[in-house]
Amino acid sequence: MKLHEYQAKGVFADAGIPVPDSVLASTVEEAVEAAEDIGFPVVIKAQVQVGGRGKAGGIEIVEDGESAREAAEAILGMDLKGLHVDRVLVEAAVDFTNELYVGVTMDRGEGKPVAMVSTRGGVNIEEVAAEEPGAIVREHVDAAFGLHPYQARKAVFDAGVDQDVAIDTASILTQLYELWAERDATEIEVNPLMVTADGEVIAADAVMNIDEDALFRQPELEAMEEEAAGDELEAKANEYGFDYVRLSGNTGIIGNGAGLVMTTLDLVDYYGGAPANFLDIGGGAKAERVTNALDMVFSDENVDSVVFNIFGGITRGDEVAKGINEALERFEEIPKPVVVRLAGTNAEEGMEILNTDLVTVEKTLEDAVQRAVSYAEGANQ
Ligand code: GDP
Ligand code: MN
Repeated sequence: MKLHEYQAKGVFADAGIPVPDSVLASTVEEAVEAAEDIGFPVVIKAQVQVGGRGKAGGIEIVEDGESAREAAEAILGMDLKGLHVDRVLVEAAVDFTNELYVGVTMDRGEGKPVAMVSTRGGVNIEEVAAEEPGAIVREHVDAAFGLHPYQARKAVFDAGVDQDVAIDTASILTQLYELWAERDATEIEVNPLMVTADGEVIAADAVMNIDEDALFRQPELEAMEEEAAGDELEAKANEYGFDYVRLSGNTGIIGNGAGLVMTTLDLVDYYGGAPANFLDIGGGAKAERVTNALDMVFSDENVDSVVFNIFGGITRGDEVAKGINEALERFEEIPKPVVVRLAGTNAEEGMEILNTDLVTVEKTLEDAVQRAVSYAEGANQ
């Protein structure tokens, strides 16, 4: 579960990590008022869960009330990388001399948490990581002991952080590690961690991902979940109990079982299509679950066709087929072509039962995927 910037900064502030003064606003009036209260210059920042908001026009620095109003009008309601912006964080602007990057995550290869520091923070850190990995200093942590202060100092000095702010940066890194461990985070990232002319270090951005399996022992963070579920479809998926990930393509994918869905995804890609989502509806294929799954995929504007890959195991193919028919009949119209591939127990019987007025049935997965990909291509011509 990914926290919004304003939520993560709240958690940082509680832990004593310096963040700028800020107010969350959902209307232009609120934003302008917040800006006046905080005092100019302020930064107005779209609260959506994507990286690179700055480059995409979701962040503006303003010097007075008039431009605060213009910026808030432009950003509130904007569509940022497919997400609707309905709130902005109005924040005291930091007059920085340098942008650092610090983070803590799990290094699965090493089986250890790792703390990271770079003096090349700011909007291009991904490029730095790809082109010059050495510019990001990594310090592995023994989880039994935590990040020792000397380790944090070593990482900060190795990265080449200015002497004047090195100790403060190191202690922020230590605090971030403690937060990471205490709050069951999978990832914490501060980019940029801004250094000011008078030698202060302050978290200007905050990314915090929480391990969903640990939410039961993080009630305070769990309470933020509903608000944090930025994507409407992801919120729906939570409600239905599906595993869902939105992707950028136009072929919708539904299956029962994560492996089956992944395979379908790979094949869509292989045949030149682009997956619109990962959607695993889990065991069986009761009409209710199928209806919910179709409802989700149909309501995704990006989807042009749907491939439904079902394996009849304990739930037999004929039962699955009945579930699919029943689900399809609940829709007044089928807005996007659906291709079904059914395998496993009683697959033959199932395929005979499927209502071919409503769906296209293919015998093999390859055929089903190719058909769905060509429908999706056709929709764009
Ligand atoms: P992201 O693009 O979504 O990662 O958003 P960030 O919060 O990291 O902001 C992107 C960039 O906006 C930063 O690297 C800064 O260059 C600029 N920015 C953000 N906050 C401030 C601020 O308080 N003062 C100034 N001068 N620039 C800021
Ligand atoms: Mn950032």
